[in-house]
Amino acid sequence: MGAQTPLEGFYNILSLSIPAMTLDRQSQSPASPEPKSIDSGILGGMRNQMSRSAFAAWAIIWGVAAGTGDGAAQVIRVGPPTCKAIALTFDMCPVRKGTGYDAELVNMLMTKRIPATFFLSGRWMATHEQEVRALREVPFFELGTHGQVHAHLPRLDADRQRSEIASAVTLLETKYGHRAPLFRPPYGEYDDATVGIVRALGLRFILWDVVSGDPDPRLSRSRMVERLTATVRNGSVIVFHANGKGLHTREVVEDLYQDLVLKRGLQPVTVTDLLDHCEQRTNH
Ligand SMILES: [Zn+2]
Repeated sequence: MGAQTPLEGFYNILSLSIPAMTLDRQSQSPASPEPKSIDSGILGGMRNQMSRSAFAAWAIIWGVAAGTGDGAAQVIRVGPPTCKAIALTFDMCPVRKGTGYDAELVNMLMTKRIPATFFLSGRWMATHEQEVRALREVPFFELGTHGQVHAHLPRLDADRQRSEIASAVTLLETKYGHRAPLFRPPYGEYDDATVGIVRALGLRFILWDVVSGDPDPRLSRSRMVERLTATVRNGSVIVFHANGKGLHTREVVEDLYQDLVLKRGLQPVTVTDLLDHCEQRTNH
C-alpha cells in the first residue's frame, strides 16, 4: 500500500472502522445518541487544518458535533487522523472464574515497553490489589476506570449511573492514591444521562473505533490479526481484555507490534498521549 495522506487515512477510518464496530459482540448497542456539542483547543486546531466536511465527518466519528462551544462532553472513539499512533486499551471487567489477570500479556507489554491503557472496574480492583499497584508503577501504562460492578448503564436511573461510574473512580483514588480521568462504560453502552454524568465528574469518555474481539472463541489468532491490520488506522483506539478473558490477546498484540508498529510505523501510545500529545510523541 502506498503512503496515505492524513485525509485518506481519515476516510479509511470512516469506511472501515464502523463496520468493525458492528462486529463487537460486547457492545451490541453502543447507543450512539445524537452527536454532542463540543469545542476545544484540539478541535479548533483540527478545524483549521481540515475542510468543513472532513471536520464534520471526523466529529461524527468522535461522537461530537462541531461548533456550539458549550463544553458538552465528547464521546471519544478515535484520536486525530493526523496522528501516526494507536492506543492499545485493555479492559479489566470483573470475572467469576479464573485469575482475572493475564500476567503473560502484561509482562510482555512491560518487557517490550509497549505503552497501554487499562480500564479497571471497581469489582476487579477489589480482588486484584497487587495487580492494581503493579500496573500503577509502570510509567508507560495509563489507568482509567470501567464502572464499579460492570453494569449496563442505560438500564439504571441517573443516580445509580452516577454511583456506578463514580465508585470505581473513588476507589482508585482513595485506596490506591491514583486519580484516573479516563472512563470507559461497560459494554460500551451509554445514554444521554451517562454523557452528562461523566462530564460532571470531570472524566473523559473513552470508547474505541476498533474491536479486537478477543473473548470470541470463533476468532482465531490469525483471523483477529488479519482483521485488525486491515482496520487499524492513524489514531485508532483498539479494545482488548487483560482480565484473562482474551483468548489470544498476547499473541495478537505481539503480531500487531510487528505489523503495525515496526512495519507501518504506528506508534503505540496511551490514550491521553494519543489525544493530547500526539505530535510530540510520534514526530521524530
Ligand atoms: Zn468490560
